[in-house]
Amino acid sequence: MADFAYRLAQKRNIVTALPGPRSSALATRRSSAVAAGVGSSVPVYAEDADGGVIVDVDGNSLIDLGAGIAVTSVGASHAAVTAAVAEQARHFTHTCFMVTPYEGYVAVAEELNKLTPGDHEKRTVLFNSGAEAVENAIKVARLATGKMAVVAFDHAYHGRTNLTMALTAKTMPYKTNFGPFAPEIYRMPTSYPYRDAAGLTGEQAALQTISQIEKQIGADSLAAMIIEPIQGEGGFVVPAPGFLPTLVNWAKANNVVFIADEVQTGFARTGAWFASEDEGIVPDIITMAKGIAGGMPLAAITGRADLLDAVHAGGLGGTYGGNPVACAAAIATLDVMRELDLPGRAREIEGLAKPVLQALAGEVDVIGDVRGRGAMLAIEIVKPGTTEPDPALTKAIAAEALSQGVVILTCGTYGNVIRLLPPLVISDELLDEALTVLAEAIRSAARA
Ligand SMILES: *Cc1c(COP(=O)(O)O)cnc(C)c1O
Repeated sequence: MADFAYRLAQKRNIVTALPGPRSSALATRRSSAVAAGVGSSVPVYAEDADGGVIVDVDGNSLIDLGAGIAVTSVGASHAAVTAAVAEQARHFTHTCFMVTPYEGYVAVAEELNKLTPGDHEKRTVLFNSGAEAVENAIKVARLATGKMAVVAFDHAYHGRTNLTMALTAKTMPYKTNFGPFAPEIYRMPTSYPYRDAAGLTGEQAALQTISQIEKQIGADSLAAMIIEPIQGEGGFVVPAPGFLPTLVNWAKANNVVFIADEVQTGFARTGAWFASEDEGIVPDIITMAKGIAGGMPLAAITGRADLLDAVHAGGLGGTYGGNPVACAAAIATLDVMRELDLPGRAREIEGLAKPVLQALAGEVDVIGDVRGRGAMLAIEIVKPGTTEPDPALTKAIAAEALSQGVVILTCGTYGNVIRLLPPLVISDELLDEALTVLAEAIRSAARA
């Protein structure tokens, strides 16, 4: 473990019932001010956060295993990031890159062109959110290929805007009653080793999918396929080896733009800068957001220069896209990630956490699968002796962990996946303590 510097004490300390009185009072104000459709997975209100802890408004110090959904990989208030933000904000918070451009945007683009897989000529465009990046990757792919159809996969999550709802698989809560959805989106089977036929290889799964694409759509109509190299909201599904490379090879041979949605997997999370590197795939376009800027809203697409430069001037952009403060935060965040070797730290976290989860899976009968890479790890909760998902038990485990001061997120098409997404700068001690709490929550849930 590198020597991480912290501003807040890195300890779990629960001083009230959770939620405490101040959080409860805020929840009351919220219910008459904030639309009911916005959910929060944890009922405590944050006041401070640093490294591996979130301190709430009642003074409780919680261990953070969610990182704001894989965003605050360098911590939620890393000194280098907050200094860069303050310095940039002192000069200008906005001019609009489409009006009066500035260096920060160019510098982030240069960084991403270097950092993303492949040494081909690349171009980058910056946006505000992951969904916006995905939308724009599809816009580019359609324009550049002159084709319209797009393939997305089972269990996929790509966002909440109209086009990205269409790409997202799960209906509740993301899509139900929000249609009509964008046309020319086709959903195909992915590789899900825990739930696929036993022995199905990644290559075989990909060939089955390709055969369906050829029969139902045709490569002549297909502009792009978009896939998360490890699926996020869908359940941290890691495809069998060979699945992604087989799809990439077919896409290349058929003038289909291969888009890797690395909004959740990107920026050191999986133990490499990008999850695509694990099997050496080189996407035509890569979408990025979450971990990019230490918590500041920023998103990007980086891809083949011939694709990105095919778009007419003025065809891509947005008022806030590549905001200068967010760009300054991104530059600082990437420097911190390099300095602290956070890809290496993500692998260390896997080395610490995975054996604990695997041992636990051998001990209780409600863990069907342990999977993931780097600091993107998950366990799938099932009814004992079956592969039947148990979302109620999953919820109970997360609630029990929270009551003990550990913030843990769930996900999955079936709502039965507990996912670990700690800040990469979490200390070994804190991670270890969180895992002990989680293990105890699982043991007690399994007994109940
Ligand atoms: C979170 C996420 C998105 C959407 O990002 P937003 O910033 O919430 O719009 C898209 N794709 C993946 C893989 C994600 O995890």
